[in-house]
Amino acid sequence: MSDIDNKFAGNTGSDLITITRRPDIVFIEGQGSWLLDEMGKRYLDLVQGWAVNSLGHSPALLAQALTEQAGRLVNPSPGFYNRPMLDLARRLAELSCFDRVFLASSGAEANEGAVKLARRWGRRERGGAHEIISFEQGFHGRTLAMMSASGKPGWDRLYAPMPKGFAKARLNDITSVERAITPDSVAVMIEFVQGEAGVNLADTGFVRELRALCTERRLLLIADEVQTGVGRCGHAFAYELHGVEPDLMTLAKGIGGGVPLSALLCKERFNCFEPGDQGGTFCGNPLMAAAGLAVVNEVCRPGFLAEVRRRGEQLSRGLAEIAQEHGLPGERGAGLLRALALPVDRAEAVVEAARALTPVGLLLNAPRPHLLRFMPALNISEEEVDTGLALLRQALREAL
Ligand SMILES: *Cc1c(COP(=O)(O)O)cnc(C)c1O
Repeated sequence: MSDIDNKFAGNTGSDLITITRRPDIVFIEGQGSWLLDEMGKRYLDLVQGWAVNSLGHSPALLAQALTEQAGRLVNPSPGFYNRPMLDLARRLAELSCFDRVFLASSGAEANEGAVKLARRWGRRERGGAHEIISFEQGFHGRTLAMMSASGKPGWDRLYAPMPKGFAKARLNDITSVERAITPDSVAVMIEFVQGEAGVNLADTGFVRELRALCTERRLLLIADEVQTGVGRCGHAFAYELHGVEPDLMTLAKGIGGGVPLSALLCKERFNCFEPGDQGGTFCGNPLMAAAGLAVVNEVCRPGFLAEVRRRGEQLSRGLAEIAQEHGLPGERGAGLLRALALPVDRAEAVVEAARALTPVGLLLNAPRPHLLRFMPALNISEEEVDTGLALLRQALREAL
């Protein structure tokens, strides 16, 4: 063994800047809903890179799209058109209520773009209105401005001073939105399902009132569908659940099937950046756009989303049964974005017990101390959902 191999074998992560606590496992391979670690143990993965791998691990169609595009053209510069960029934009416009698309690399970047576009429109059409109303507990990303937009407790002090111009309202409380409006307000930014906050669902009644209020007060409605978009909630986009059309929408996570890709979409009348106002070195690169096109075409092909809804119902029924057996408060969610509430702050212990199960582990996520979140691959099989529920029962028995 060479020195380099030696160093790698004993690698404890001490070369990485500390950002989080990671379990003592190194993953080397993934196929569909399954991951394999260096020790040869298999895990059923209900996290999927935080709702990122819409088609599971290493889907063949993603590998093919990436390989073909990598051999053809990787990046001619964002200053030129390329074919996958044009094709993905056209496909997203066909599938949604939007007319124009800007491609970027992360959810936070797409959301920053949405805020910039709203402020640009506010300068042109609303006498300089610039303030964005977002929601308590909401999550919009980790750039400084998106930390301001997010409603995570404590985030206003972590890296102070923070960018200004973000007011907060409460989800499902239209009066709180009305109260937050000032002459400077230009937009309301909402997650139809607050993912990181613990799968909190916006009510259809509230969403419709919000749409009407935004229209009446000339505020843009920005849908942050970074987590909910591209099939996650059983429809191409979560706004379809409520029968409303936002003015701007952002996508990331699932759109790339695991690779870094995001999008900002808008209606034609808000297409108001001047050349040079917005951009980015990797924005619209053909390699990621080709991946996104393959993923979006698969998720939105006839029959796929109906199957996502069936798997969502199966998971929902299974979680509700488990809640009853264990005397838990219950489950909630939309499509394949679901949560199971616990009566005590033991979610992290359940996550650890699930991971430690043998011979097969289960990967879960705990966005809150009393809450488990499930965001499996959209093409998870009926049998795999049942396996996941059986493993979850075992983990709950051990941890609760
Ligand atoms: C994950 C997430 C983001 C941030 O996306 P990144 O790609 O991590 O920047 C923004 N909004 C929502 C709703 C998210 O779930």
